[in-house]
Amino acid sequence: MRLVFLGPPGAGKGTQATRLANELGIPHISTGEILRAAIARSTPTGIEAKAYVDGGELVPFAIVLRLVEDRLQEDDARDGWLLDGFPRNLEQAHALEPLIEKLGQNLDHVVFFEVADDEVVRRLSGRRVCKTCSETFHLEFSPPPDPQDCAPRQCEIFQRSDDSEDSIRNRLEVYSRETDPLVGHYQESGLLVTVSGSGPIDEVESALREALGHRR
Ligand code: AMP
Repeated sequence: MRLVFLGPPGAGKGTQATRLANELGIPHISTGEILRAAIARSTPTGIEAKAYVDGGELVPFAIVLRLVEDRLQEDDARDGWLLDGFPRNLEQAHALEPLIEKLGQNLDHVVFFEVADDEVVRRLSGRRVCKTCSETFHLEFSPPPDPQDCAPRQCEIFQRSDDSEDSIRNRLEVYSRETDPLVGHYQESGLLVTVSGSGPIDEVESALREALGHRR
């Protein structure tokens, strides 16, 4: 199966993508994760992308497209993939189409996780991530066992640099200007599946399974 996950920052795309990709045995391809790893390793791409990611701006098209193009051609992506965070605007959506066509593939569904703005702000400002395993916690809803580590793995918990108040505000603006138009775009092409992302994680997961189950 080939899927795109769409929705505002903090909608739970990453959490749901990890679960579903594991279940389906397909790679979870998060452009945000790839960029954060490149930044952490100070690769040329990471150095170029850092200021955009920290400020909540979109990283230039050519950089992200190259990352996705390379990743989709890796062996583990031959029989399916789940794209999380790409495409992020119409330009990227239009570039994805010929890319997957060239690979002889089809996009099966675009899942849109619908969450209200105030809920998104609440989630992002309390979000904490483990540096080692990328597991996501929330200070209020799913706190890590200890504020400093997620024992027993002794991981290090940190707040993403783009989860600051200013950056959250900017990311929401960028989302509504750039990414939200994709909902209409994929609705028109008949690929859109809408799932409410506002409940607890397990509830959203059930709604997602049900929505996709009807279409498999
Ligand atoms: P995410 O982890 O999806 O919230 O992405 C974190 C940040 O990475 C975004 O705010 C952007 O700066 C950058 N980013 C991720 N995916 C894309 C993309 N498809 N196009 C441009 N920038 C992206």
